[in-house]
Parts: sequence; structure tokens; C-alpha cells
Amino acid sequence: MRYFDTHCDTITKIYDTGESLFANNRHLNLDRLSKVFQSPVQVFAVWTEPLYYKTALDRALKVIDYYYAEAEKNKDIFGHVNTLADLRANEKSGRISGILAIEGGEPLCGSVELLRIFYRLGVRVCSLTWNYRNDLAWGVKDSSPNHGLTEKGRAMLREMESLGIAPDVSHLSDKGFYELAEICEKPFLATHSNARTICPNPRNLTDAQIKIIAERGGVIGLNLYPEFLGENADVSTVLRHAEHILDAGGENCLGMGCDFDGVDSLPEGIETVSDIPGIFEAFEREFGKEQTEKIACGNFLNFFEKLLV
Ligand SMILES: [Zn+2]
Repeated sequence: MRYFDTHCDTITKIYDTGESLFANNRHLNLDRLSKVFQSPVQVFAVWTEPLYYKTALDRALKVIDYYYAEAEKNKDIFGHVNTLADLRANEKSGRISGILAIEGGEPLCGSVELLRIFYRLGVRVCSLTWNYRNDLAWGVKDSSPNHGLTEKGRAMLREMESLGIAPDVSHLSDKGFYELAEICEKPFLATHSNARTICPNPRNLTDAQIKIIAERGGVIGLNLYPEFLGENADVSTVLRHAEHILDAGGENCLGMGCDFDGVDSLPEGIETVSDIPGIFEAFEREFGKEQTEKIACGNFLNFFEKLLV
């Protein structure tokens, strides 16, 4: 089975501990990914937590260095993706594909020049904020209805689109979302967010936001964090969010963005990425094989085939 997931914090976490990407006791590692899926694609987030805001650029560069060192150690089963040709080569050889993302724009230091350098370092997805305000935008936990993007944030989005970096609206304030939708001319992502109608958490998307992402050709990655799923979350709760997002946005707008190694708990019955096929079995019973394949991989694959050159 194919698999495409747009958010994990694994590389940021193992940079701190020195653990290996191939085998660790976290939610996600390459050993598990390669045993469960056929040529899976995983987006790895370089996340800056508030503790590191003052040294964000230094830290992001070191996390990216760690990612490439781990990629090199595992090159027989793993390949970093800069281009569509890289993705195709990995599919052909059955290797895992890795895509780099920046979560929280602090390492950019408000500078489009640094964004261009990060593009050269392999970054293809970028969010302006994590939960809090920075010089680019207001995040979900630090916003009032009047707070969206800054001028620097707008300039950053324009540069992302011209480079071929997909903007990510997960963690962005509601006003920021609508301002981003106005500025962006190309499809954009919500890499790890659920439906606010099902679970009223500001990290989740309203139906209107789901519709806008879908109409623009974007895709939403389902997040497995119980706080964004709802009380007593299990596979049926994940299914409810999936059903709602498909109802609101249609068959092409949903994928997976599990948030592995970024969350301190997971739904009942899910412990690692090895349990994802159980979710897909439930999807298949509910939505059928074709729709399940679109959620598991097809929709994000489509998105990235257009993004990557
Ligand atoms: Zn996140």
C-alpha cells in the first residue's frame, strides 16, 4: 500500500537525542515505514519550539544537517526529494521519499533571501507560524480577530509561490488564513489539521476554510492528536473527521498528516505508524478502496506532482 503523510516531528526530536531515523522507539522510523508501506512519502518538519526562538536559524540548519546525515546512512532505503524526478526514482527503486518542511517561520528571520537558501537546502513546505506571533504572522494561540499576516509574511508567501514551496496554513490564525488565501495564487496545504465542526479546537479548520483549500486545489492532512480529534478518540473518531472533511471539500482534498512524534498521545488503538493500515481498513469499509487510496497517498501525490519541478 502507498502512503503519503505531510507532518511528523521525528527529525526535530531525534536531532535533540541523537537517535537514529532508521530505528528508534518513537512513533515513526524508517524501519517501520519501509515494512508497512510501498514507497511511502513522508514530510519531515523542522520545528522551532519557543525555547529556541532566539537561535532559530542556527537550530534549523543543524536539524537539516542531521536529516541529511540520516538520509545518507539510510540511502539504500531512503531518498530525499527535491524534484519530481527524485520522487519517481524513489518509487521505481521502492525507497522511502523524504520531503523537508519548515514549521514556524522563525528560522527565516523575516528574510526572503533566507527562504531562498532554505529552498536550496531542500525545503518544499513552509508555515509562517507555529502557535504564536512572529514577524510574519499571528498563530492560533496568539491571535485576536484582527490579527493575520504582516507585510513580511505577505512577501514571504509571494516568494514561496515563485520558488515552489507550498504554504502551510496549519497553526495560522483565522484572519491569517483568509489573508493567505487572498494573496496565494497557487494551491496551499493544511499539513496537519482536522475539522472544527467535529472538534472545536482553533487548530482545526472551519467548513468554510476546508472549502477554500479544496476549491484552490489544496489538500488537508488528517491529524491524529486526540486534542484535535475529540474526547475518547479512537479510529472511529478519525473516520468522523475524514467523513466531514470529504463532505465539506470533496474527494480530492484529504490526506494524512498524522503529527507523529509531535504529540504526546494518540487515539486508542494507534501506537506507531505501523498501525496506520488499521485506519485505512476502516476508511475502506466506509469510503471504498478508491477513495481510501486517494486519502492514503493519491491526493497529496497529485498536489506534489504539480509543486515539484
Ligand atoms: Zn504542528
